[in-house]
Amino acid sequence: MKNIYLILFLTILIFSCKNKETNENFASKETNKEVESSEYLLNATLWVQTSGEYRACCYQAFNYAKIAVENNLKTVKKDKAPAVIFDIDETVIDNSFFEANLIKENTVYTKENWKEWTDMSAACAIPGAIDFLKFLESKNVEIVYITNRKEDEKEASIKNMEKLGFPKIKEENYYSKIEESNKDARRTKVAEMYNIILLVGDNLGDFDSILDQRENDYGFSIVDELREHFGTSFIILPNPMYGHWEDALYKNKEKSNMENKYDALKGYTQSCLR
Ligand SMILES: [Mg+2]
Repeated sequence: MKNIYLILFLTILIFSCKNKETNENFASKETNKEVESSEYLLNATLWVQTSGEYRACCYQAFNYAKIAVENNLKTVKKDKAPAVIFDIDETVIDNSFFEANLIKENTVYTKENWKEWTDMSAACAIPGAIDFLKFLESKNVEIVYITNRKEDEKEASIKNMEKLGFPKIKEENYYSKIEESNKDARRTKVAEMYNIILLVGDNLGDFDSILDQRENDYGFSIVDELREHFGTSFIILPNPMYGHWEDALYKNKEKSNMENKYDALKGYTQSCLR
């Protein structure tokens, strides 16, 4: 009988130790989850919201865009109307308020909280964007939006942009994301209607999907190859908060996002002069 109590005691002890181990594992996952909170967005979001440098970069981009349009209009074919293609998020409207809310509420991006934000139609204009759009209107250049916002966000997005004073958005010139984020097929459709003289975006995929190939050297060699296009047929806006560039960081699926980011950092030994 005494032995039975001893076995029972040992079983409970082993079970409770095992259970503790499980809870600790769970706790460490929870800790990882905390590491994967939106706090990492703090500096980038503050840079967008409070630095004069961010505003200056935006003005610089749109000033160059005007020069590019003036130049490209001189050589464009006259068989179709000229058009400029824009991405929307972080290109013409500023969603840093959404990112700031994630940080403040200690939460992360979900499809639901993003939809909640876009439904508010509360994003602000990127500095210089409205002025540039009005300039295009004055030059009779078509304004086309190719966005990875979904179709069910279209109405609220147009409402948001028109509230800000953007030129009237033509239904046929607004392309939501239907199936894929890759924008090539939608750009091809636009090219059937218009002569594209400029593309404006914050993500390299807003220009050509070839630029989204970042497996090797983060895609630097393709950017280097296409360097002449930046400022002439591609205008890029700064967005330090998020983008396709991040995907190239998460190489090791066994590690957390934060661990992968630390692995990607280049220290003294990886300096270009070592
Ligand atoms: Mg964007």
